[in-house]
Amino acid sequence: MTGTHLRDVERMRGSWPLNAGTAPESRLLDSVAEFTYHRDIDALDHSLVLSLAELVRASTVALCKRAAGSRAPVDTMIRCAPDQHGKFVVEASDGIDDPAVEGTLRRSMESLQASAETTPGGLNRLVVPVQHEGQAIGAVLLESEDGLENVRPLVDGFVRIYANYIALLDESERDKLTGLYNRRSFEPRLQALLKRQLRARMGARAADDRRRPAGEASRVWLAILDIDHFKRINDGFGHVYGDEVILLLAQKMRQCFRQADVLFRFGGEEFVILLGSAEEDSVHAILERFRDIVASHPFPQVGQVTVSIGYARIGDLDHPDIVLDRADKALYFAKENGRNRTHGYETLTARGDLAPITVGSIDLF
Ligand code: GH3
Ligand code: MG
Ligand code: MG
Repeated sequence: MTGTHLRDVERMRGSWPLNAGTAPESRLLDSVAEFTYHRDIDALDHSLVLSLAELVRASTVALCKRAAGSRAPVDTMIRCAPDQHGKFVVEASDGIDDPAVEGTLRRSMESLQASAETTPGGLNRLVVPVQHEGQAIGAVLLESEDGLENVRPLVDGFVRIYANYIALLDESERDKLTGLYNRRSFEPRLQALLKRQLRARMGARAADDRRRPAGEASRVWLAILDIDHFKRINDGFGHVYGDEVILLLAQKMRQCFRQADVLFRFGGEEFVILLGSAEEDSVHAILERFRDIVASHPFPQVGQVTVSIGYARIGDLDHPDIVLDRADKALYFAKENGRNRTHGYETLTARGDLAPITVGSIDLF
């Protein structure tokens, strides 16, 4: 943090009191230490908007985020505003409903430039894009009746620290060879997906005047994919070729699955896919299509490589370990019945080909 930023904070002190009796530098450092304490992205997002809201007097402090590959400028908005008792409350919502704000965000994120404007109604708006690998992954949005020019260096600084920290967290969540998510990030990614789905369903229900049936089934699915006879590839061609097959398969996964699906390398030659918002028939068709694409792709030197896939539905109340176990049982069934095939746990149990797994029947710890 440069001296200029600290001087700006000094200037702010008269009109926007920081904690009484605390030097502004240490209050600032407190805020930075507080928000970089977090190890998961949701908590970091929450803490960023809260820290800024505490430091800057504004009617809106929001972090607008775009999902990877999305065309919309904003997919999630994390907003901090004081409640009627003056206590800061952080809320998340999907998208943004004001086309003027959306337009400003889009322009700022496309140009990677901060934008300051005053609306015809006299509201000051400041948008600072958040960059990761040369692209805007979101933006911080502030709105205030007071001018925002003198807090701009402070907001810029926070956004830069936030972006650096996001890059670090992202790296720790990914598998080094393929760049897919690693096993460690499975639970937080799954929770985030379920939360997003629940919000979308609640929104749809409200729009539908609450006429949708309560307790409808979740539409998130978990698939486990394992390369068939991978030991033969390693033994016949060596580990370097084995690694190359893993890498090419991961690339194919990225090309074939949708942006909203979450892809993991779980270990060795085993992958997990979280498919959001799909019906069972289409989940089966999507996975079968991928299995077929792999089986018909000639891998350099190695030739044909096949995969077996097992999948299961994730119910709202299901423990992730149970769903993993169900998908794994379906995968095992595929392996036992010839490999290079896709099976769903629900269909197998309904047909009586597989005994159902209940909470009591597996060891969770
Ligand atoms: P199956 O069809 O039953 O899955 O047979 P398989 O030979 O694939 O059996 P299994 O899944 O048990 O074997 C996986 C092998 O993958 C064992 C290990 O030597 C190898 N392996 C694990 N991680 C890596 C890796 O990162 N690179 C390479 N090249 N090989 C790995
Ligand atoms: Mg295998
Ligand atoms: Mg395996």
